[in-house]
Amino acid sequence: MTEMRSKLVAGNWKMHGSLTENEGLLGALKIGFAAGSQAQCAVCVPYPFLGQVQALLRDSPIAWGAQDVSEHAKGAYTGEVSASMLQEFGCRYVIVGHSERRAMHAENSRLVARKLRAAQSVGLRPILCVGETLAERERGVTEAVVSAQLIAVVEELGADALAQAVIAYEPVWAIGTGKTASPEQAQAVHASIRALLRRQDASLADSVQILYGGSVKAGNAAELFGMPDIDGGLVGGASLDAKEFLAICQAAG
Ligand code: PEP
Repeated sequence: MTEMRSKLVAGNWKMHGSLTENEGLLGALKIGFAAGSQAQCAVCVPYPFLGQVQALLRDSPIAWGAQDVSEHAKGAYTGEVSASMLQEFGCRYVIVGHSERRAMHAENSRLVARKLRAAQSVGLRPILCVGETLAERERGVTEAVVSAQLIAVVEELGADALAQAVIAYEPVWAIGTGKTASPEQAQAVHASIRALLRRQDASLADSVQILYGGSVKAGNAAELFGMPDIDGGLVGGASLDAKEFLAICQAAG
């Protein structure tokens, strides 16, 4: 029942941008993003740029968000940013559990679940990233790894928590490497995620958007988004180039 799900393309700027560069990029996105597009488009930007992005995108159909959030609501957590702060800057989305944070900041799936809860507690839509490393794919444990990452969230928060979340399947070996999972490889994992959701609750399986991420570009987006269980993309490098990103958004409908 894919009809129940619209497509979403979310850009992840990672640690890129400057006030001047952002103005150019966002200006081009605003002009180029087709009004009335069926697909939702969003940019997830570094924290210091949220005020600028809010001001520039306020009257546009393009949504925005952040790339991480604290599990805590407030307190002595130097360097952390709370979900309510993101909400004050008009964020609709926040990425949680990106593989770069899991790998470089030792974030485990339980912590990621608590971040997801913090986001949802103020009405933000978390984009929950899951995915296997190259070694795990080669060992044939891709679906087990992805499933364990999702089940950890279900165990911590209950399956209902996934109802208002977006899931992004991002094979670690395809992120920023130029290597994309083939549409068939991605679809197989997306179908397994959908089956896991169905085992929790059939309505979850029909409604939750599952994005693909990993070297998505204008040249491969349409094929990926054409697969039945791929509901759009989480886009890193190509989201920094207005022409590429707009073409990817267009491929989503
Ligand atoms: C990402 O950062 O989530 C990502 C998918 O990056 P890239 O598109 O550059 O592979």
